[in-house]
Amino acid sequence: MSEEVYRQLRETMAKRGPQMRVLDIPEFYEMARVLFTPEEAEISNAMPPGTFTPNVIAQETGRSEKEVTEILEAMADKGLCSSVVKRDGTRIYFGPPLLPGIFEYQFVRGTKTDRDRRIARVIHNYKEAVQAAGASLSPITQPPSFRTIPVDRKIEAETAVQTYEQVLAYIAQADPISVATCYCRHEALLLDEKDVCGMPMEVCFQFDRTAENVIERRMGRRVTKEEAADIMRQAEEAGLVHLGVNIQKLDFICNCCPCHCVALKTVLSHPKPAQAILCRYRPSFDPDLCVADEICIDRCPAKALTLGEERVPEVDLERCIGCGVCASGCLEGAITLVERDGVLVPPADRRALGEAIMESLAQRGSS
Ligand code: SF4
Ligand code: SF4
Repeated sequence: MSEEVYRQLRETMAKRGPQMRVLDIPEFYEMARVLFTPEEAEISNAMPPGTFTPNVIAQETGRSEKEVTEILEAMADKGLCSSVVKRDGTRIYFGPPLLPGIFEYQFVRGTKTDRDRRIARVIHNYKEAVQAAGASLSPITQPPSFRTIPVDRKIEAETAVQTYEQVLAYIAQADPISVATCYCRHEALLLDEKDVCGMPMEVCFQFDRTAENVIERRMGRRVTKEEAADIMRQAEEAGLVHLGVNIQKLDFICNCCPCHCVALKTVLSHPKPAQAILCRYRPSFDPDLCVADEICIDRCPAKALTLGEERVPEVDLERCIGCGVCASGCLEGAITLVERDGVLVPPADRRALGEAIMESLAQRGSS
């Protein structure tokens, strides 16, 4: 039963989302056995899409509701599923994909236990094996799986900025808000204490129900709106990129560095990164204000900028991912973000994004 349940688990994870490739290789099963007990794998395989209550799993598996609830609670503590209490008092659960989801939950607490190190090792081994097999970890899809959220205060004043493009609008609307340790940078630290890039660590934000789960399971801490805005600004000043899933209603925003973030590294390794992520903006330079100190060129995570003949930066639009890190670092205020041609609108939610990606894959397969 044990081998079969992990084989099914691979299929379950592959169906949950396109953001992380789920290959049938020994390293997947090594990782799965460290993360999930056979009972937890069985419960995972019985989870329906969307939210559910324990009785659904009890019916599917023939286990008692009490036993299923106990296993689900242990899984939620381990970050193998998420859970919140609805207003009417009903506790509901959700089975997340490997990424974004289970992988992040393993490291956002920022702890350094033996189990943390073991998990970091098996996840790392799996990622290495995927790449050794010639596959990219996070496949580039159309529409893209991720989007940048621009540094909103740098968007040109005349532009009508959508709410879903404003970091501060998420902070204003969300309740509660939690902040946790960056999964990517902490995973690197668990593997090698010297692998640090000096970027702030506690900068991973969750909103609303996702934040409730993170706070309840002590994976992160609740922050006020003022503190959240402060941390976001510190992340911008440090040169981190606001990144989220390519949907309008985000339940998390990561602040990513190009050296450790799986999603950002994958996008930037594409020959034309702008095609691999949804980015709606590009920088515009005011030659009267620019003093050609090249700060923006050094800060750009996509290496999209060069100093032009006129001693004003020029942008390679095929590389620019519209993050605004150049603009937030310019001491002269010489950079604003302007809309690119062709307005790109993210899908409404994860289901719409998944359907759009599946449709595009089917069309590619039939063409
Ligand atoms: S950081 Fe500002 S002043 Fe410096 S080169 Fe870039 S646009 Fe010019
Ligand atoms: S030029 Fe570089 S830093 Fe500026 S928005 Fe584009 S990718 Fe970001």
